[in-house]
Amino acid sequence: MAPQPTASVDTATPPPTAVELTGAIARIREYLEREKPATPCLVIDLQTVRERYTELFEAFDGAKLYYAVKANPAREVVRLLVELGAHFDVASPPEIDLCLAEGARPEQISYGNTIKKRADIGYAYERGVRLFTTDSEADLEAIAEMAPGAAVFCRIVLADTGSLTPFGHKFGCAPEMATRLLAKAPELGLTPAGVSFHVGSQQLDPRAWDAAVEQAGEITAKLAAEGIELRMLNIGGGLPGRYSRPAPPLADFAAAINASVTEHFPSRPQLVLEPGRFLVSDAGLLRCEVVLVARKSTVDDRRWVYLDVGRYNGLAETENEYITYLLATPGRDGDTGPVYLAGPTCDGDDVLYQHNIYRLPMGLRAGDQLDFLNTGAYTASYSSIAFNGFAPLPTHCL
Ligand SMILES: *Cc1c(COP(=O)(O)O)cnc(C)c1O
Repeated sequence: MAPQPTASVDTATPPPTAVELTGAIARIREYLEREKPATPCLVIDLQTVRERYTELFEAFDGAKLYYAVKANPAREVVRLLVELGAHFDVASPPEIDLCLAEGARPEQISYGNTIKKRADIGYAYERGVRLFTTDSEADLEAIAEMAPGAAVFCRIVLADTGSLTPFGHKFGCAPEMATRLLAKAPELGLTPAGVSFHVGSQQLDPRAWDAAVEQAGEITAKLAAEGIELRMLNIGGGLPGRYSRPAPPLADFAAAINASVTEHFPSRPQLVLEPGRFLVSDAGLLRCEVVLVARKSTVDDRRWVYLDVGRYNGLAETENEYITYLLATPGRDGDTGPVYLAGPTCDGDDVLYQHNIYRLPMGLRAGDQLDFLNTGAYTASYSSIAFNGFAPLPTHCL
């Protein structure tokens, strides 16, 4: 009997031929055709980043957009966002240096990582950064000492919000602790800016922000009663990119979030967003090559397709198959059959998809090209230096 696939398919993966070809994909394909860069590589269509930024800016009228640099730290992406007037959410001194080198002013930078060395806080302060996020007393005191007079967000921890890539309990503190820390900030010479949170990345539910906005509203009201005014509300990241599970349109997220803020805040705070994935994911295409197509048993008709890209050189977000990318096989169509997809390294975990059943053309051969669509976020930035000798994923920008 043929072994049954270990199927828990809640994401019906569309066959490659059913994938909608956007303008970005067409432009990137044209570039790949013309330049024939070595694979694997990531190509970013800057026009799409510009479009996403404009869409977001219009959907959240008056909000400040802090791009989460970790999503895609390509210099061209940061430079474009500087030109568009974006702000930047950074997590380390090298990300600060990158933003400043590409023309950002220090006032446009927020140090959003709640886990930082004292020396790194000092480094940020020396370069003019005056906005930090905290979630603990020890970090708040370090900010007071190393960045005197700075403004601080306090991040609250959320119960599971249904995100596809949840943060768990690593970041944020309980609301009562956040209230205490924000009340203590002025005693330490700091300006309490507001509450922050992150509903988890690739969030598909527009209502996921509501409970957090409500808690932030309660904290803000409590502190107002003590004479402490919080001017801002930082609703973090989480807006989705386009993968195999369809996401609601941006307008649905904006309507739900704006309604929450109106309901839970008597006067409208300055909204801060920290978009990462939303701005860059749909702008990227990862082109790779099929290394081997193999059958591992005479009775299993599910083929193993090995690629020159895997978990360690760009596709880290396939861990637990959290992110199920859309695939396309340019130049190959016809009948499809089920496959396991795996990367090129000698690591047993370097398997991309086995629980989600992807189907690829029966004619697929070693040497064929394969495209991972909408891969502009968390791909190149997650790639290892050279595990097993495989180079980190290069990025080309159009
Ligand atoms: C990673 C991160 C973001 C961006 O999240 P996305 O889901 O990519 O939008 C925003 N804020 C903080 C603090 C982050 O760590």
